[in-house]
Amino acid sequence: MTVGRALLRAWRQSVVRLCLILLGTAFLGFLFDRLWAVLALTAFGVIGWHYWRLHRLLAQLYRRRHLREIDGRGLWDDLEMLLHRRQDEGRQRVKRLLGLVRGYRHAAGLMPDAVLLVRRDDGTIDWANRQARRLLALGPQGREGRVPEALPDPRVAQWMAEGQVDEPLLDLPCPTDPNVRLSLRLVPYSATQWLMVLRDVTKLLRLEQLRRDFVANVSHELRTPLTVIHGYLDIIDDEDYPELARMLGEMRRQSQRMSQLVEDLLTLSRLEAQESLDAREPVAMAPLLVTLAREAEALSGGRHRIRVVDRAGIDLAGNTRELHSAFSNLVSNAVRYTPVDGSIDVAFERSTDGGATLAVRDTGYGIPAQHLPRLTERFYRVSTSRARETGGTGLGLSIVKHVLNLHGAHLEISSEVGRGSRFACVFGPEAVLPRAQADAP
Ligand code: ADP
Repeated sequence: MTVGRALLRAWRQSVVRLCLILLGTAFLGFLFDRLWAVLALTAFGVIGWHYWRLHRLLAQLYRRRHLREIDGRGLWDDLEMLLHRRQDEGRQRVKRLLGLVRGYRHAAGLMPDAVLLVRRDDGTIDWANRQARRLLALGPQGREGRVPEALPDPRVAQWMAEGQVDEPLLDLPCPTDPNVRLSLRLVPYSATQWLMVLRDVTKLLRLEQLRRDFVANVSHELRTPLTVIHGYLDIIDDEDYPELARMLGEMRRQSQRMSQLVEDLLTLSRLEAQESLDAREPVAMAPLLVTLAREAEALSGGRHRIRVVDRAGIDLAGNTRELHSAFSNLVSNAVRYTPVDGSIDVAFERSTDGGATLAVRDTGYGIPAQHLPRLTERFYRVSTSRARETGGTGLGLSIVKHVLNLHGAHLEISSEVGRGSRFACVFGPEAVLPRAQADAP
């Protein structure tokens, strides 16, 4: 039955019933010659009955009673029947949702990672799965405590206060077993809660350490034999062996390249082993820029137009040797990947946020866009043959990235094929120092 027809039927039944009652009582009143009195009494009765139904319905709703299922006729019966249906639907929905929530919780409980639901304001743990209870030695269900007490490392409280959803917190000792290392990740769950995922990364960190040690050891071991080969090659005079001159030249070039590779690998290992700079010293930028200009000129040998401008007039806080190596890597790349007669601009400028930027721009070959995100990976090269020709090791930009990370700075790369590239080292305001008087121009 359509909604319109059902409504019409209920009204019709009520009106017919009212008319029948009025007609019946009018007939009685007429019989006893008390027509108006009987009609008034009946009207009171009808109104009273309506009030009574209304009162009964309201009382049931106030008491949150489940209404009976009735199949009566008339407006009140229809209203009660509809309310009963609505209540039933609501209950079914709640049941379904509860089932879903239980299912999710069960699935979260079976997950191999430890998962916690944590309040954003004070770190109270609202819920934890079995793995989380085991790793953090939490109390019985419903009395889990707070994250800062379960994980007392001071880095945790600060990391949570900052709401670091992009950066996981790595290498944290597990409170129940200091040999186990944990990584923590925050996922926004609701406006008031975080989902915190804890993962046992002990094996991963050990493997990473093994890899680092292996690379550092191999590089270190290669240093001595390479120095010996290098030394012998230098002693041999080409004029004594004119027929071997070409071969000797190539051997010298290759051993030079291998030495550079070993040095770069050792530098990378050293940078990777550092979590942050041991100490920050004032880095005098004016003499550093002069050195960069001199190095670029020497490398280019007059084949490029080189310009170095210093518009910042400040110094940086950091490590002079590391920053010099990073900047000169960028300048050397600009010279090596720019054809003859191209221009290379090095600009040191203040940025709008109070920090500073050292940008190296060239009018060289440029880099296709799809390579840009991977450029700072170790040994990643856009064109292997060109990189080899120019004597690259494929580690330069990786070193630059690590040096900048240690300084809390980052590298921005933009490039257009055939037009050139821009590599910018972006420092925050905390890295800026007023320029020392002696260095000011
Ligand atoms: P490489 O020692 O091979 O130069 P880098 O890590 O310094 O290694 O650079 C990685 C790759 O990025 C290079 O092989 C080169 O393809 C590309 N590249 C770096 N700088 C530039 C630049 N200024 N112009 C064009 N390509 C560049």
